Amino acid sequence: MRCIRCGACMNHCPIYHAVGGHAYGWVYPGPIGSVLTPAFIGIENAAPLPNASTFCGRCEAVCPMRIPLPKMLRHWREREFERHLTPRAARWGLGIWAYFARRPRLYHAVTALAGPALRALAGRRGRIRRLPLAGGWTDHRDFPAPEGRTFHQIWAQRETGRQTGRQP
Ligand code: SF4
Repeated sequence: MRCIRCGACMNHCPIYHAVGGHAYGWVYPGPIGSVLTPAFIGIENAAPLPNASTFCGRCEAVCPMRIPLPKMLRHWREREFERHLTPRAARWGLGIWAYFARRPRLYHAVTALAGPALRALAGRRGRIRRLPLAGGWTDHRDFPAPEGRTFHQIWAQRETGRQTGRQP
């Protein structure tokens, strides 16, 4: 491993920024930790870690040693999948998401409703203390209510702005 422990990958990782170093539960946090820990203690003991990534690719882009971190994370995800280590709640959640994702109109309708519903649930605090299927998050910290528009709404507005020459 060519890692020089500079910390650039974690300092640019949006997941690391959101959850902090302790959430990784072992010596090395951040993207490099999510790659190394399964190698040290076995994927069966570190299964959630390779999923702590949006695959935005920033970690690889800033790594001075050009270590292909997203590719290595994907390798561990594949091992996790092959060994059926993904928790049942996560499999159900992905199944529900896949159902809607294959039906774009329904997906847009549901996501357009989900934001306001979560904001109503959060109340004035703007944070949710308990959320079904999100216990892994809400057991330790509040869930922030989504703000403003969905990604698709922002994208559609940006595209319209581009065609008309106006900024969204
Ligand atoms: S950016 Fe690259 S070299 Fe630096 S800690 Fe992360 S993996 Fe190691």
